[in-house]
Amino acid sequence: MDSRRKFLKKSVLGAVGLGVFKNSSGGDLGRIGNAQTSNPIVISTWDFGVAANSAAWGVLRTGGSALDAVEQGVRVAEADLDNPTVGKGGYPDRDGVVTLDACIMDARGNCGAVAALENIAHPISVARLVMEKTPHVMLVGEGAKQFALENGFAEEDLLIPSSEKAWKEWLKEKKYEPVINIENRSFNTERLPGNRYNHDTIGMLAMDSKGNLSGACTTSGMAFKMRGRVGDSPIIGAGLYVDNEVGGATSTGVGEEVIRTVGSFLVVELMRQGYSPTDACRQAVMRIVEKKPEIAKNIQVGFLALNKKGEYGSFALQSGFTFAVCHSREQDRIEKGEFYYPSEEN
Ligand code: ASP
Repeated sequence: MDSRRKFLKKSVLGAVGLGVFKNSSGGDLGRIGNAQTSNPIVISTWDFGVAANSAAWGVLRTGGSALDAVEQGVRVAEADLDNPTVGKGGYPDRDGVVTLDACIMDARGNCGAVAALENIAHPISVARLVMEKTPHVMLVGEGAKQFALENGFAEEDLLIPSSEKAWKEWLKEKKYEPVINIENRSFNTERLPGNRYNHDTIGMLAMDSKGNLSGACTTSGMAFKMRGRVGDSPIIGAGLYVDNEVGGATSTGVGEEVIRTVGSFLVVELMRQGYSPTDACRQAVMRIVEKKPEIAKNIQVGFLALNKKGEYGSFALQSGFTFAVCHSREQDRIEKGEFYYPSEEN
């Protein structure tokens, strides 16, 4: 064990019971979710994670599995028509078609995913069925839809009038302009002007009373994206990764940069080496900054992580990233992610 790992291990053990870890420079090394691994916890990206966490908590508090919790939790965001970035009501691609991406991973390392799925409102549940009923990990497009229909999912129009209106606005200029934190600017207030593309995803990580971890990630992807574009969210290792011996991680933001760096897998591997959740997320963000500094300063990417001890943390490229936390002692809390670039808007 190298000296850094020894130091981290020592400081982690020494900090149990204090509530917050501190590193040698006084920084937050990740809060303690629970002193005992058997206390359930659920965390998820953005403010809309609060409602999703509450559904997940309903499963966890009655002894349900982390896998059921994350599926039930993110379904809340998928069903919320006021949410233009996840599920039904999500903004369409540049051709006006809503295409959904999702993945799920359990404590045994099983995983399932769907990408570019059309006309099915709950991609996360289709992803779970891919995991449980097929020998595959991912189904895409027409094949994913066919699989969903064969398994009893209803076909429906996912383009709601407000999203169609935003798309028609966007068509006037067809300009791609990243909005760094759409969720904080327009969610539940007003939808963005159509000449901006935007993004946000719900990524959720949970630990159940048996100490098992699972995660789920679901999105409509970048609004007005190219037809056929798939981001990080349904890609195991990029948008989500869980290793029950170590922890889990998920991401939100411009998926191309997360795919390039295999972000969530990187976060989990760093936690395996002894990094706290916050420090592991910070390192993954720094990888993006180092590889693509010109891109990094103009986009948002946020990582969220939970380790086997129930400690959690996050780090984002820009300020403004938030996440929701729910566990036995403090419920439905929203926390601000640490960040690399302080953006003017936040
Ligand atoms: N990561 C998603 C994607 O690239 C979008 C987001 O989370 O903002 O499709």
